[in-house]
Amino acid sequence: MDLWYTEKHSNNVGITIKAAKTLFSGKSKFQQLDIIETLEFGRMMLLDGLVMVTERDEFIYHDMIVHPALFTHPNPKKVLVIGGGDGGTIREIMKHPQVELAVLCEIDGLVIEKSIEFLPSMASEIDGNNPRVKLHVDDGIAYIRDHQNEFDIILVDSTDPIGPAVGLFEENFYRLVFSALKADGIMIAQSESPFYHAEIQKSMYQNLRAVFPLVKMYQAFIPTYPSGFWSFAFASKKYHPITDFDHDRAAGRNFHSRYYNEDLHLGAFMLPTFARENIAE
Ligand code: SAM
Repeated sequence: MDLWYTEKHSNNVGITIKAAKTLFSGKSKFQQLDIIETLEFGRMMLLDGLVMVTERDEFIYHDMIVHPALFTHPNPKKVLVIGGGDGGTIREIMKHPQVELAVLCEIDGLVIEKSIEFLPSMASEIDGNNPRVKLHVDDGIAYIRDHQNEFDIILVDSTDPIGPAVGLFEENFYRLVFSALKADGIMIAQSESPFYHAEIQKSMYQNLRAVFPLVKMYQAFIPTYPSGFWSFAFASKKYHPITDFDHDRAAGRNFHSRYYNEDLHLGAFMLPTFARENIAE
């Protein structure tokens, strides 16, 4: 009998992926966690039945939540990741030698534990062996209340605005992020699909603009996310992602990135009209 995983993106549309077997299935106090082996996307993590990461396409999401900010900021030394329990975002941050400390604040310890066990290619830097990485199992909202003027960059690598992540899309949270950032800090947050989530984007970007002087959207192609057309919010206290971007510095990076590059950095901020209209002021 064939086994298929299906995620509905709206009432009548979804994605279905042929699965080989379930590697883990369990429930934490926050959510249902499943890790399944698929035939075409490798191992896949689901939270409350929604695709979080797959081995085959996670490089896209993790390149694009990390490198645009870390190549726009001239000298990021201290970075905070809220969410990100699979470890892929921390792995990409570690490729930037000037980063002295990356802090991961993930609310669900089970996600970290099972990512280390079943997704080692993503969790390679959150296994406790990297002195430049510090792990916290805590609500990101509570964590940043105690950390003011501390981070050069904050990456919000959260689930969708449901369950424990609801507060991570609200104005009060963005005010806390603003305070936790240094005077020239940058915040990135995954900002859903321009095709399916116009209403979420509209309120999210309104909330961001109420707090940050510079707010932009940039895009990436992520095949296992709803519609494949995904977005990130770039919220900055000082630096502009295009005019302050050091193209040569990004071109001279000492690591290979399969999705991000110095030209794509510029192109990602060019949006189709309907995506611009979702977040029009
Ligand atoms: N790339 C995925 C996406 O775009 O949906 C996100 C992956 S990562 C696994 C999302 C993580 O956010 C989950 O592990 C979840 O537990 C965590 N999370 C949700 N709300 C949180 C909160 N308030 N504080 C810290 N972590 C949170």
